[in-house]
Amino acid sequence: MADGFKTFMEQVVAKNPEQKEFHQAVEEVVESLWPVLDKRPELRKAKIIERIVEPERVIMFRVPWLDDNGDVQVNRGFRIEMNSAIGPYKGGLRFHPSVNLGILMFLAFEQVFKNSLTTLPMGGGKGGSDFDPKGKSDNEVMHFCQSFMTELCRHIGQFTDVPAGDIGVGGREIGFMFGQYKRVRNEFVGVLTGKGLNWGGSLIRPEATGYGAVYFAANMLETRNETLEGKTALVSGSGNVFQYTTEKLLDLGAKPLTASDSSGYIYDEAGIDREKLAFIMELKNVKRGRIKEYADKYGVSYTPVDKNLDHNPLWDHKADCAFPSATQNEINEVDAANLLKNGVYVISEGANMPSVPKAIEQYIDAGILYGPGKAANAGGVAVSGLEMSQNSLRLSWTREEVDNRLQGIMKSIHTAAYETAKEFGTPGNYVNGANIAGFLKVADTMMDQGVV
Ligand code: NAP
Repeated sequence: MADGFKTFMEQVVAKNPEQKEFHQAVEEVVESLWPVLDKRPELRKAKIIERIVEPERVIMFRVPWLDDNGDVQVNRGFRIEMNSAIGPYKGGLRFHPSVNLGILMFLAFEQVFKNSLTTLPMGGGKGGSDFDPKGKSDNEVMHFCQSFMTELCRHIGQFTDVPAGDIGVGGREIGFMFGQYKRVRNEFVGVLTGKGLNWGGSLIRPEATGYGAVYFAANMLETRNETLEGKTALVSGSGNVFQYTTEKLLDLGAKPLTASDSSGYIYDEAGIDREKLAFIMELKNVKRGRIKEYADKYGVSYTPVDKNLDHNPLWDHKADCAFPSATQNEINEVDAANLLKNGVYVISEGANMPSVPKAIEQYIDAGILYGPGKAANAGGVAVSGLEMSQNSLRLSWTREEVDNRLQGIMKSIHTAAYETAKEFGTPGNYVNGANIAGFLKVADTMMDQGVV
């Protein structure tokens, strides 16, 4: 079977050249699944694996817009509709200059398993653009979003494909896109999630990914009769996931020590308290400034990104926990060794695929509590699913109601990953547990629905 896996991966690489993040994501998942396929020959025969790595549809389009000088700008838009076996495509939109087909393919692929784990009826998708909102005026962001949605609105719909936010897409961008969808299609429906509270949004949606990643860490710690109280934590990023991870860590009595953006990171030995977190939120969500300003204000150390270093020094501090919350592959092999050396024994991934495969191997070998992104950060899409339910009911649930449901969902995801890992002979391995549990529901459904 090892040969079968190798051949399979060679085919994936040949068919999707240059898409290295997609190859990485597929390899990680399918490696976990191969032993399952041994036990389920009917899935092999029906070519479920071959079908699951093939998007149902890929949409790629031109996004022209006018900047504030009246000059024409041209970006590229994408939507990957990966798998709709268990529900409409669901997954975020990312606006970042690094966006390309391979990155969105990896994110869409991961999303299929993540959404399956949430227990809600959502298929997997992902999209975005190489547009960079950084340094753009609100007007420019609006013009871009309107042009992007003018094309995307032909392909999405409340029963077809329901995008949300991701890197570079927050409440402002969702608002501009929702406005344009409504204008062009002349319908007020829950076609996007992450909406404002006045127009169909859900309480707790902005908080959900970060809160969920912390709930997942607490669930993992519970298996060792421990809590987050008094634990120190390294957290990366300074955007949505960072902010609400930090807030929930404070709620549960932990001490967050770090924050970063693509220019550098700060280390605050005294801990980022609520007042300092409020400063970061204002800095990032309103002023759209850089994290260095935190160091200037609070007199703590700031380390700019050094491209010549073979590691990220943010991960080289003593701590109990790590919550990568910025981007993919932000923890390399050296970083993982540093984390372990510094005593980190709980890693809960708010970001998608933040750890390279050689980092994950080290976590598993060391037997630490490691929650991979597709399980640990599923809280965001879970509350997006709850936003869809509220839109269908035309009702809004209270904060407590949504938070209780989120906690319940994170617990179910933890239990599914934990129990499945045990059942398939790798107890404590949440990577195998999450991959297998997420896969089986989709695979069985694909079997029920025939060759489509
Ligand atoms: P965000 O609000 O745009 O914040 C992203 C943060 O990461 C920013 O601080 C950004 O710094 C930093 N960052 C982005 N690209 C980077 C790079 N290449 N190198 C270093 N730093 C980088 O996005 P977010 O929603 O928090 O998303 C963060 C991660 O969580 C992503 O992996 C995303 O896919 C994942 N995630 C998000 C959700 C959600 O609900 N939002 C759900 C599940 C998973 P700059 O400002 O300098 O770019």
